[in-house]
Amino acid sequence: MKCPSCKLENPPSATRCDCGYAFSVPTTEPPGSRVDIQQHPSDPTIVSHLRSIDDSVRTIKRIVVFWAVLSLIGLLILMFRH
Ligand SMILES: [Zn+2]
Repeated sequence: MKCPSCKLENPPSATRCDCGYAFSVPTTEPPGSRVDIQQHPSDPTIVSHLRSIDDSVRTIKRIVVFWAVLSLIGLLILMFRH
């Protein structure tokens, strides 16, 4: 980022310029999140809602895979017992 005080180009992670000027932009925020908000400026709540749905779908898939593996192991045990 460019220092508005002395026009020196600073790295994006810099919180303070060499001249002592403190950048007001928080640097803890990841750069990708701001781009994401710009892509969906009207409906940030819908985007976060879709993300929570995506997370729950992933959890359900994990549970289904877990039970499928468990039943498969149970079937194998039954087959080898006979
Ligand atoms: Zn400066």
